[in-house]
Amino acid sequence: MILILFGPPAAGKGTQAARLKEAHKVAHLSTGDMLRAAIAQGTEVGKRAKAIMDKGELVPDDIVVGIIGDRIKEPDCRNGFILDGFPRTVNQARALDDLLKGRKLAVDVVVVIEVDEAALIKRVENRANEARAKGQPVRPDDDPETFKKRLAVYRAETAPVLPYYDAQGKTRRVDGMKSIDEVTAQIEAVLKAVKPRKGWFG
Ligand code: AMP
Repeated sequence: MILILFGPPAAGKGTQAARLKEAHKVAHLSTGDMLRAAIAQGTEVGKRAKAIMDKGELVPDDIVVGIIGDRIKEPDCRNGFILDGFPRTVNQARALDDLLKGRKLAVDVVVVIEVDEAALIKRVENRANEARAKGQPVRPDDDPETFKKRLAVYRAETAPVLPYYDAQGKTRRVDGMKSIDEVTAQIEAVLKAVKPRKGWFG
């Protein structure tokens, strides 16, 4: 099963992906995590991405498509994988389809985690306060103004990806305002209903 977890920043994609990975033993591919790792390692990609990410803008499509193209060839992706934070533009969605077609694969389902913008802003404020209270670093892009910029980028560049998958009948919406457990249960119900290929996601 190739599952895309779709939704605005701080919708809970990473949290849900980690749970699904554990429950179904599939790979979790987060372009945000991969870019942060590249920055930490000081790679060329990391150097190109850092200033863009700190501003809350999108890293160029060629960079993230390159990262995903390499990553899906890894053996742990053989049983399917969860994409978290990718694709974020219509161009990326098209490039993903091409990458998968080359391997005789396709996106199975796009789970859209819906959360009100006001709730997202509150979540990120809480996340930053909790990190500060523990003496941990706050993500530079969780600064309130930068976060609002990320929401604006989501509305302008990422939300238009939804009609692309709607047209293919692949989107399923879940209520991301519910508790973490309830959101997981909604996603599991979606997975059951899409009847994955035998052996993929159980
Ligand atoms: P995330 O951890 O998914 O919230 O991503 C953090 C930041 O990484 C984003 O605000 C972007 O700057 C960058 N990023 C992550 N995924 C992508 C992507 N698919 N396309 C472009 N930029 C991305």
